[in-house]
Amino acid sequence: MVYRDFRSDTVTQPTQAMRVAMMEAVVGDDILGEDPTVQELEATTAAMFGKEAALFVISGTMGNQVAVMTLTQLGDEIIVGADSHMYNLEVGGLAGLSGVQARPLAAERGRFDLDKFRQTIRPRGVQSPVTRLVCLENTYNLNYGFALPQSYLAEIATIAHEHEMQVYLDGARIFNASVALGTNVQALCQDVDALMFCLSKGLSAPIGSMLVGSKAFIDRARWVRQRVGGGMRQAGHMAAAGLVALRTMVDRIPEDHQLAQRLAHGLTAIDPTLVEIDKTETNIVHLHFSSVGKSATEVVDRLLEQGFKIKLIVPDDCRMITHYGITAADVDEALLAIREILGR
Ligand SMILES: *Cc1c(COP(=O)(O)O)cnc(C)c1O
Repeated sequence: MVYRDFRSDTVTQPTQAMRVAMMEAVVGDDILGEDPTVQELEATTAAMFGKEAALFVISGTMGNQVAVMTLTQLGDEIIVGADSHMYNLEVGGLAGLSGVQARPLAAERGRFDLDKFRQTIRPRGVQSPVTRLVCLENTYNLNYGFALPQSYLAEIATIAHEHEMQVYLDGARIFNASVALGTNVQALCQDVDALMFCLSKGLSAPIGSMLVGSKAFIDRARWVRQRVGGGMRQAGHMAAAGLVALRTMVDRIPEDHQLAQRLAHGLTAIDPTLVEIDKTETNIVHLHFSSVGKSATEVVDRLLEQGFKIKLIVPDDCRMITHYGITAADVDEALLAIREILGR
C-alpha cells in the first residue's frame, strides 16, 4: 500500500534537485575546515539570518544540546517552555549533557506571561543557581505550531538582556513561522542571540540542522560539537541538499499552510469540536476526538487500514502535518475517510 503520511514533515523525501546536488557536491574534510560545500551552506545561512556565522549539525536535537552546552555552565538554571521539545523530547540532555537545571514555564499559545517570566529569573545570591539562558521555540509546540511574532521575541529579549541572560531560539520550523507572520527570518530573529533551524522538516532535506549566531558562539559551538562526536568529514554531500532546500523549498511553504487550512476547515465541517480553527497557524493541525463518539486511537487505526498515517498524541488527540509530500487530493481523501469512520 502507498501511504499518505501526515504524521510529520520529517517524512519528506529529498527532491530530484537535492539528489543531483548531493551526487555532484564538491567535498573535503570538514573537521579540517576543508569542505567548500559545508562552508557555502554555513555562509549562506548566516547571511540569510543576518548573523555572523552558522554551523551545520546532524540534527535539531544536536543543535539544541550543543547550543545549551555552549551557552551555560554546570549548575546553571535555564528557562524553557513547559511543552517545548528541549524539555520533553531530548532524552534529558539538558541535565545529562550540560548539567543545567531546566525551569519549565507555561507558554499559552507559545507565549510566556511577561510578568511570570520576569519573576522566574532569580536574583543572584550565594545560594542561588544563575538563571543564565531562556530558550524559546518558534513555531511553538510540535503538536500545534504556533507562530510567535518578532514583537514578542523582542519583549522577552529585552527582559532577558536586562538580567544578563542570553536568548536561544529552537527554530526547528522557523520558516513556517516567518511565512505565517509575513516577516523574513532575519527580522524575526534579530533579537535572539542564537538559534537552530531544521533543514530536514518542511524544507525536505534528508539530514541536518543549522546553528546560527555570533562568530564567538559558533566558534565555541564547533568545538562542543566535536566533543559530542558531531564533527563530520565529507559532509558536503549532505550540505548540498541543505543549500537546495534553502534556495528552492522556502518559497513553497505557503502551500503547506494552505493545505493545513483546507484540512482544518474540512474537519470543522465534519464536526466543529474536531479542531480549533484559530489554533491552526502553520502546517500543524491538532485534532480532538473527545466529543465525537470514537477515540483517536480507533480513528488512527482505521485510517491506517485505508492508507493514511496520522500521529496519535494522547488517546483523544492526534496531529496531522502538511508538507511537500502531501497534495490537496490527499487532504480531501483523508477528510472523506475521517467522515466515513465517524459515520457522518
Ligand atoms: C523536530 C524538532 C527538534 C529536533 O529535531 P531533530 O532533527 O528531529 O533532532 C527540535 N525542536 C523542535 C521544536 C522540533 O520540532
